[in-house]
Amino acid sequence: MQTKIALKGAANWLVKRHIGPFQYRRRWLDKTQWADAAQLEAIQTQLLNKLLRHCHRTVPYYRQLMDNLNISAEQECSLDILKQFPILTKADVLSAGNAMVSKKYPRRLLHTAYTGGSTGPRLPLRRDYISIGNEHAFVRRQFEWAGLGLSDRCAYLTWRSVANPNAADAKMYAYDPFMKELVLSTFHLSASTIDSYLEAMKQYDVQAMVGYPSAIYEIAKYLKTQGRTFPLRSVLTSSETLGMQQRQALQDAFECDVFDFYGSAERVCYIYTCEKGCYHILPEYGVTELIPCEGANEDCCRIIATGFWNYAMPLIRYDTGDLVRVSGRQCECGRSFPVVDSIVGRACQTIETSSGRVIGLTAIGRLFKNVLLRLADLPIRDSRFVLDDNGGVGFEMIVEQAFSNEDENNLSEIFSEELPNDLPVEVRRVEAFSRTVSGKVVSLVRA
Ligand SMILES: [Zn+2]
Repeated sequence: MQTKIALKGAANWLVKRHIGPFQYRRRWLDKTQWADAAQLEAIQTQLLNKLLRHCHRTVPYYRQLMDNLNISAEQECSLDILKQFPILTKADVLSAGNAMVSKKYPRRLLHTAYTGGSTGPRLPLRRDYISIGNEHAFVRRQFEWAGLGLSDRCAYLTWRSVANPNAADAKMYAYDPFMKELVLSTFHLSASTIDSYLEAMKQYDVQAMVGYPSAIYEIAKYLKTQGRTFPLRSVLTSSETLGMQQRQALQDAFECDVFDFYGSAERVCYIYTCEKGCYHILPEYGVTELIPCEGANEDCCRIIATGFWNYAMPLIRYDTGDLVRVSGRQCECGRSFPVVDSIVGRACQTIETSSGRVIGLTAIGRLFKNVLLRLADLPIRDSRFVLDDNGGVGFEMIVEQAFSNEDENNLSEIFSEELPNDLPVEVRRVEAFSRTVSGKVVSLVRA
């Protein structure tokens, strides 16, 4: 596993930092963060026009849409032109298929990623290699705001796997010397393993922790019960809502500030906190529209966004499904970037296994996806993981008539190979998926 992590690190180091535009983009972002509102609008207008020309020339879906809407890509447009585009949903992108992908790039040169999160169908996302270097420059600016340079080592508690979920005595971490990342297994977090994680962090002289707040919080709680702290320069969290109480616990345990960030696999919107603790929408990343919600979430806004950088598969006015609370605040940090109060709608929950491991839903969602990917050969029409009211996990499936005892055995085998053995999952055959009385279904993953 150590070799695998190092090899992957070498590839990342080349693609993210050296082959593409990383160095150039980093210097650019260093300057643009101090631009005033008018300068930022000029930057956005220029980037949007470039993107629209590219879309009209090379992306079949947008060529047709823009022709239908009479939008000329060859004339300079203002940002208001976006209002003429319909809002794009995940379902639209799925049904458009390859028509969303630019014809400019040979298919074999594109990288394919899938949407993260824990609900809904997986969306394949094509990325060109130039966009990967640009993305990395945005990521590293956040690290710079958190006081971290390229040579500082960071520990990661995310979805990356360093050991099989059932391995009991394997090494639960691996170090990537290229990206200077110590990858810790989120799937083995328990009171009995945390000491070895902290030991590894000391051994590798780690300056910061990056990961899911639910996972890092487990370490903070452990340190508190031991009456200890583990001083770091900063903690960076993402993917789940960071609660006030969690933030405070992390600050106390690691004696540093916590920087939270929001991004998504679709790469249309990026929000991160500055040194003053404000959430800033990054205007150089794309155009982010905040559309007020109705009904139960009326104090929130939906994030609808257009990303500037992924030319392989541009998404215009994409509905991210995520919500924020807006703020009229100006931040004291001196940047003119818009501020939001908080990111909501990605509430974090954890599952405790029978042997005391605590795994966040975002992390375990990755394991569930591995299971669902392997079900393709079984006669199962539809399936999903759900969180039951008692905190347990259920697997509901609608099977075809041909579903046999042998299929049942194969299913058990897949479960035992992909999921922690101490996580009981109740398998249920159902005729159709239903909602609970409250109308709330916590659907973790659906194939
Ligand atoms: Zn600020």
